[in-house]
Amino acid sequence: ADDLFSPALEGLNPAQRLAAGQSGGPVLVIAGAGSGKTRTLVHRVAYLVERGVDPVNILLLTFTRKAAQEMLSRARELNPACARVEGGTFHSLCHRLLRAHASRLGISRQFTVIDRGDCEQLIRGVINEQKLKTKGDRQFPKARTINDLISKSRNQELELEEAIEQWAGHLLGYLEEIGRAAKGFAEAKRAQSLVDYDDLLFLAEELLRDHPDLRQRFSRHWQYLLVDEYQDTNAVQARLLKLLASEHDNLMVVGDDAQSIYRFRGARVENIFEFPQDYPGAKVIKLEQNYRSTQAILDLSNEVIAQAWHRYDKKLFTERLGGNRPALRRPRDDRGQARLVSERIAELTKAGNRPEDIAVLFRASRDSYELELELTAGRVPFVKVGGFRFLEASHIKDALSHLRVIANPSDFLSWQRLLMLLPGVGPKKAQSVISHLVQADSPELYLGRLSSAPGLGGPAAERLVELMGELSDPAATPLTLVETVIEYYEPICRETHEDYPRRLRDLEELPGLAHGFSTLSEFMSEVVLDPPGTYAAEAQGGRITLSTVHSAKGLEWDHVFILWATDGRLPPQMALMDPESLEEERRLMYVACTRAAGELTILAPQESYQRGRGVVSNELSRFLAELPAGLLDSPRENVFEVSTPQAAPQSRGSMRQDRPFAVGGQVRHHTFGRGRVMGYQGGKKILVHFERHGLKILLLEFANLSEA
Ligand code: ATP
Ligand code: MG
Repeated sequence: ADDLFSPALEGLNPAQRLAAGQSGGPVLVIAGAGSGKTRTLVHRVAYLVERGVDPVNILLLTFTRKAAQEMLSRARELNPACARVEGGTFHSLCHRLLRAHASRLGISRQFTVIDRGDCEQLIRGVINEQKLKTKGDRQFPKARTINDLISKSRNQELELEEAIEQWAGHLLGYLEEIGRAAKGFAEAKRAQSLVDYDDLLFLAEELLRDHPDLRQRFSRHWQYLLVDEYQDTNAVQARLLKLLASEHDNLMVVGDDAQSIYRFRGARVENIFEFPQDYPGAKVIKLEQNYRSTQAILDLSNEVIAQAWHRYDKKLFTERLGGNRPALRRPRDDRGQARLVSERIAELTKAGNRPEDIAVLFRASRDSYELELELTAGRVPFVKVGGFRFLEASHIKDALSHLRVIANPSDFLSWQRLLMLLPGVGPKKAQSVISHLVQADSPELYLGRLSSAPGLGGPAAERLVELMGELSDPAATPLTLVETVIEYYEPICRETHEDYPRRLRDLEELPGLAHGFSTLSEFMSEVVLDPPGTYAAEAQGGRITLSTVHSAKGLEWDHVFILWATDGRLPPQMALMDPESLEEERRLMYVACTRAAGELTILAPQESYQRGRGVVSNELSRFLAELPAGLLDSPRENVFEVSTPQAAPQSRGSMRQDRPFAVGGQVRHHTFGRGRVMGYQGGKKILVHFERHGLKILLLEFANLSEA
């Protein structure tokens, strides 16, 4: 470290300064949640720029593009020159490298990036084509399962057989068929110039590994590499970094082994531990002060992770002493949970908290449905992230398929999709049209053959031909193209979907996304690589955030609720049998708890409804049930302290500040009239039985009650 008193390092503690102020070489920062790892990277960017490094020679890699943008905008506040620093995800980086040099690998530069849904559709096609079928009494695996297995085996770099053994032992009988599906799938991608997420990484690795001139060029270009959330990188990502750093080893990675939550997708937490061996001479820096959470929240979080069978080497402390203990609430059911949360949110916002400082976290997307209904009914604006995949919605895919064939005419998957939107066109007919198209000498000429396709006639087909003509205008911007497609697709959407208003609203999002892109393929790749709605930092002002825990990583809010902290949901049922998965769920709980800065409320409904089983009772999540007493505030909540006649009325003198009316006493309300105080809930709510309106729960602050 050279100059630890540089202005760019202001606002960092000594350990953080040491990390951010390294002159170069390999550095690993390994530290717990909220200890300022991300902040340290931001300051390092500014520090390097201040030291005279050209901003374009710095590359920042994170897990979403939004996260990178956010970090770079903070770096820009420290030093405006940071605006030119490059940032993104591993996938977007690989995409860029391939777009420029795919021909070196014998791949068309017009390749299309495909998502999981596309992969499944391709695999379905292979299954049909090769007539792979159920044998014996075990159902033939779904395309989704096969795709997952292929992806897992690739990410973990296992043979398909090993992956099946590990993740789906019951399907070993289908090993041969799955192998054939995998082979057919790979061939189909090649033939159509389709590239999936995993391919992006492996192809980019191949490019840099086998082409020393390119490796050298990029490694010399990005002289400083910075990586956030290193614990969730996989093996090929680590190798990519090694290739990119090959000319200089100026690589700083930060991460927290206790927050590794993507093992199920092939992430290798070992990357962190092996860093010092991979980069001899690496400096390892630990950060121990947590700046995010109160001591009470940290006590709980530390204990959640301390119970893991892996010993995490974490000694976090904070100067935010005290704070309320995290509350544990056990409402009766989903409805009760939704009501409790929405009531508390109402209290918080009435008390002046900003909605964007409040988040509700959960394991699975469906866990928040009931709350969404409740919030919608109460007109509480919220934004939901994670789980929902914008691009996987069929109407979005339908619309975009027209643009995809413009960008890559060999994309038969999309040809099929858009042809089948025409009245009277099914898979067979679509296939015969495609066979007609491919008789052209080169993919560029496919479009021209559309109008002469046998069996395609009538006004709808004519409109399609006309549309494709308009879309082929090389001068059109992505924005105009999107608008043209929407205009064409809107009537089809109305026709085919009963719930078209909701779908049309989704479509209206597309122009906003396309805005600002200069080429179609850039835009198309961007939406696939970084689909909207997948990262909680997208939350707009004025709305509370509902997010899966996975999508909330790296972020923080003043007030956090965790829904469904029950065995069966967090951890989910399927994790209970497998110790490794269970550990990952524990880390997920740790990530969830450590998102909270000031207030944490955990909910665990006592009952739930299960199809086929009716009402079942839920155990509290084992990650909480096993904790020593005293970390959580769990009164016999929701049990109102209903008065017994003897207990009331209390004398005024002994009355607590937050209980201005005696339990059992009479009060008057301007609309509900006279009633009897039945009890209090928490410090803020009063339960009154009104003579003419029955039982009501009122917020004390606003109820405006007077003694009667
Ligand atoms: P996570 O593991 O959740 O990603 P992290 O280690 O990346 O957490 P940051 O998000 O960088 O932690 O920091 C947590 C919070 O603490 C942020 O609000 C950050 O601004 C603040 N913080 C970090 N270091 C300091 C510091 N030295 N002085 C003041 N605030 C700090
Ligand atoms: Mg972070």
